[in-house]
Amino acid sequence: MIEEFLIGLPKGFAQAMMMNGTIITLAYLLVWKLFRIRLARARIPAKERVDAKQIKSEMRNALLSLAVGATFGSVMMVLNLHGYTAIYTDIEGHSVVGIVASFFCLMLLDDAWFYTVHRLLHHPRIYRYVHAVHHRSVDVNPFSSLSFHGVEAVLSTLWIVPVAMFVPIYAPVLGVMQLVGLVDNVRAHLGYELYPSWWNRSPLAFMASSTHHNMHHGRLTANYGNHFRIWDKLLGTEFADYEATFDEVQRRKQAPLAATSVA
Ligand SMILES: [Zn+2]
Ligand SMILES: [Zn+2]
Repeated sequence: MIEEFLIGLPKGFAQAMMMNGTIITLAYLLVWKLFRIRLARARIPAKERVDAKQIKSEMRNALLSLAVGATFGSVMMVLNLHGYTAIYTDIEGHSVVGIVASFFCLMLLDDAWFYTVHRLLHHPRIYRYVHAVHHRSVDVNPFSSLSFHGVEAVLSTLWIVPVAMFVPIYAPVLGVMQLVGLVDNVRAHLGYELYPSWWNRSPLAFMASSTHHNMHHGRLTANYGNHFRIWDKLLGTEFADYEATFDEVQRRKQAPLAATSVA
């Protein structure tokens, strides 16, 4: 078992590096470099504070987060090989509707777990030991999306092991979840608001925008959800002026380029 784990670990790390590295770097190059001028009005914070030192430190933390992710991946692979998980690869006997529904349920569960761990890590007695690492990034960018303390990386991934042991999950659903989770995490830390102005007045309003998580990094005391607003709304932890701030960002997006405060 240990041998299988050790063989799977570097492979999982290389795959994680490739997938995460490609998506994060691509988002950074496209949004922060190539279309920087064109997207200037969509920039969320008025003042730019990102420097090379911040990005270097975020990259270092991201490597640790990826190593934690690869460790969990290898553990899951070994558990699966020995029949300890409920993961299945043969679709026969399972409905497509059920599989699609399981994806949405797992995303909701993922966000509920993230919300719980995130709120816990903001407790004043423990905040500075773990979660403060993530909040060193005030002006967030795609590289901030994996910049976590190792303990936080472990805590936020932990839920998937017991769930995969007891809840039947179609294997590709796990892969899609990983990809969607990563892309949406980059969206949360994009630093630019790319959602259209009607977003919060549409049925998609339950999905958090970049402004939602940007406000969390700016003020720390609310907006704890990552993918969705559902848990913040239910538990009364969404900034009261979130929608007004989103609308304000949208107004800036419509303004002439010269009127924006982004250099
Ligand atoms: Zn964040
Ligand atoms: Zn936080």
